[in-house]
Amino acid sequence: MVTLKSAREIEAMRRSGTITSQVLTELMKSAHAGMSTAELDTLAERGIRDRGGVPTFKGYNGFPGSICASVNEEVVHGIPGSRVLNDGDLLSIDIGTTLDGYVSDSAVTIPIGNITQNARRLLEVTQECLTVGIAQMRRGNHVGDIGAAVAAHAEKHGYGVVRELVGHGVGRAMHEEPQVPNYGEPGTGMELRPGLVLALEPMITQASPQIRILSDGWTVVTADGKLAAHFEHTIALTEDGPKILTLRKHAEDPATERYRPTEEAIA
Ligand code: MG
Ligand code: MG
Repeated sequence: MVTLKSAREIEAMRRSGTITSQVLTELMKSAHAGMSTAELDTLAERGIRDRGGVPTFKGYNGFPGSICASVNEEVVHGIPGSRVLNDGDLLSIDIGTTLDGYVSDSAVTIPIGNITQNARRLLEVTQECLTVGIAQMRRGNHVGDIGAAVAAHAEKHGYGVVRELVGHGVGRAMHEEPQVPNYGEPGTGMELRPGLVLALEPMITQASPQIRILSDGWTVVTADGKLAAHFEHTIALTEDGPKILTLRKHAEDPATERYRPTEEAIA
């Protein structure tokens, strides 16, 4: 069942989203070569709890971390642990906060130190995929318009679109209906209406979109071992168009500083 949110609920989700975006910004600033993903996880949990929130991921279906930390060929759902970040790594951080019963969900992929031009291009295009997806969140559009736009942008650059994992409705639960694939046919699927809150999250691969899951039961990796990137926002469709509830402040944001301020055009 799809639940549309009232203006009051969207405001509550924005407060949750502010915590998510602030803590994510802190993690983006803190992540560096020589640091373990467990250290980042500790910072994330403290950051969320200090602001009065609860880390949504912790304990979700038994997930042990407050963030997912996915490095290089890891697409999503990496478990934070003893792995130490190296110069040249790509790090995807996915984070969720529950505040007053409402969930917000956001992710970025960032460079650790110096990365190759090819890796940088993957980050830029994946972030653009999220932006073009958000731009389709208009009253009267359909869920399929979002996926079609995301896939067209990724494939134009020769990248793969992961099929098995999708964006989703978000609200009192992290995963609500509808599912929002990162591919689709324009004009198909549920019609978008004000009150709908979605987590859009393109997962884009450097080459083949095939994935597999590691023996830890969580970590999703590219089957060919090539790089992947992941950007996610929680977005409300309001009477005035899409509003990003997990928008980071541009001035504090290493991702948008380093890439491009695409989010601001939409916010
Ligand atoms: Mg997420
Ligand atoms: Mg999500």
